[in-house]
Amino acid sequence: MTDANPGPIRKVVIVGGGTAGWMAAAAAARYLDDGQRQIVLIESDAIGTVGVGEATIPPILGFNALIGVDEREFLRATGATFKLGIEFVGWDTGDDRYMHAFGGHGRDIQGLAFHQLWLKLRDRPGIGGIDAYAPSAVAAYLNRFGLPTGPQTAPLAYAYHFDAGLYAAFLRRRAEAGGVTRIEGRITRVDRDPDTGHVRAVRLDDGRSVDGDLFIDCSGFRSLLLGETMGVPFEDWSHWLPCDRAVAVPTEPSAPLLPYTRATARTAGWQWRIPLQHRTGNGHVYSSAHISDDEATAVLLANLDSRPTAEPRQLRFKAGRRTSMWKGNVVALGLAGGFLEPLESTSIHLIQTGISKLFALFPDRGFSAVERDEYNRLMGDAYTSVRDFIILHYHATRRDGSAFWRHVRTMPIPDSLTRKLALFREKGRVFRYDDELFGISSWVQVLLGQNVIPVGHDPIVDALDADRVADAIRQIRAATIRGAQSLPNHADFVAHHGPFD
Ligand code: FAD
Repeated sequence: MTDANPGPIRKVVIVGGGTAGWMAAAAAARYLDDGQRQIVLIESDAIGTVGVGEATIPPILGFNALIGVDEREFLRATGATFKLGIEFVGWDTGDDRYMHAFGGHGRDIQGLAFHQLWLKLRDRPGIGGIDAYAPSAVAAYLNRFGLPTGPQTAPLAYAYHFDAGLYAAFLRRRAEAGGVTRIEGRITRVDRDPDTGHVRAVRLDDGRSVDGDLFIDCSGFRSLLLGETMGVPFEDWSHWLPCDRAVAVPTEPSAPLLPYTRATARTAGWQWRIPLQHRTGNGHVYSSAHISDDEATAVLLANLDSRPTAEPRQLRFKAGRRTSMWKGNVVALGLAGGFLEPLESTSIHLIQTGISKLFALFPDRGFSAVERDEYNRLMGDAYTSVRDFIILHYHATRRDGSAFWRHVRTMPIPDSLTRKLALFREKGRVFRYDDELFGISSWVQVLLGQNVIPVGHDPIVDALDADRVADAIRQIRAATIRGAQSLPNHADFVAHHGPFD
């Protein structure tokens, strides 16, 4: 079979109506509908969606802006709250906590990295922990949130917690209003062109056939088109990320309404807590080789801070990704392309990345190997860099109380991560490669949070007068705390800005 160019893309078929499918549809309605191109989405109510995925990272604001979403309308429609970061509890010794806050900490002085200056001066009086220099971390701990009120006010970096089902419904309304045709039905067969191997059409259980030029596979873990039909293999990363199950349960909302996600380490995994306006999302992600489903559920139910509003629900998964996200005329987004556990809330972001890279390389006149290869390279890098960042949380720990933690603490890790860790351990150096998602500040916050303390600092900072720098740093700290204290309470802000309908 040859990977031929079948001509212009006149019809795009999105298979699946979870978060991935409706994000793709809403973006396609806005950018791909040139009046001649048809966009169709097929979903099966009987199969349903994965139904989780509630915590995001700041680039989601860019996606919402791209499709023209009004923030107040979005908050009301999805029960969303603001998210300033993730608090990690018990990831080092079991008796510790730190915040991975959005937006970085401090500010560079004379072009020298803030964290290097802090490393050098951290033992001096009044310098304190690095958290106190991150505006989002300080606001999160004080349970405050606000948007900039004037040109002099630095914006807080933030994302959202939202109800995944409501977000999909919200996007669906926009996509359908923008011209996307929704077809309800279960795909039971896929027809391929015998010469090119491209998908020609999908057949539904009632006999209907839906043809198309480009198929976007958003079918979830099953990976109906990219995996099952096109035969793209799954690269298994579970030797680095052994958690393979989750149990999730919603609870009544509990006060205070915190503007951050909490990820608490447990004996064989970790537990999430995601506060929404109308409920709290909770889940326990665990390794089935180290704890039974019943025990994992019991751990979750014993560690809730309000009453469950539904029965616990089990989910199974495997860490890894398809070796290519685009083959022939099929591009996979979301779970159909790969999965990394939600420790850093990256899955929805990887959908967004997939959409933006697909649009940037859109094969409007037909398929080109160079565009497809570039897409696969960019998406491969995106998954790999997130993978390393997540492995870091497990590997850089002193926890020793269970077989799970002994395993992740002592396991061999990818070379790319070994190199990053070694560089940081020596002089606190961190570099950001290509368009890696997590920047230097994220790595520094998590490395220090997990107690990876460099032996020294970058000697270049010795060029500055230490006393003057220490004074400047103390002023940054005081201003950061003052700034956060001036913000409204998070719940009050949400109530005023966008109460849930
Ligand atoms: P799905 O939601 O599974 O949707 C698949 C769609 O395909 C459905 O509409 C289904 O009906 C359709 N379909 C499948 N087969 C057929 C067929 N034969 N015929 C017709 N239609 C079909 N991400 C985050 O960013 N933040 C988080 O906090 C987060 N938490 C998570 C927690 C857990 C435990 C898990 C497992 C995932 C989490 N994720 C999170 C990931 C997030 O849930 C997903 O990335 C997101 O929901 C996208 O899912 P999807 O649309 O790819 O798949």
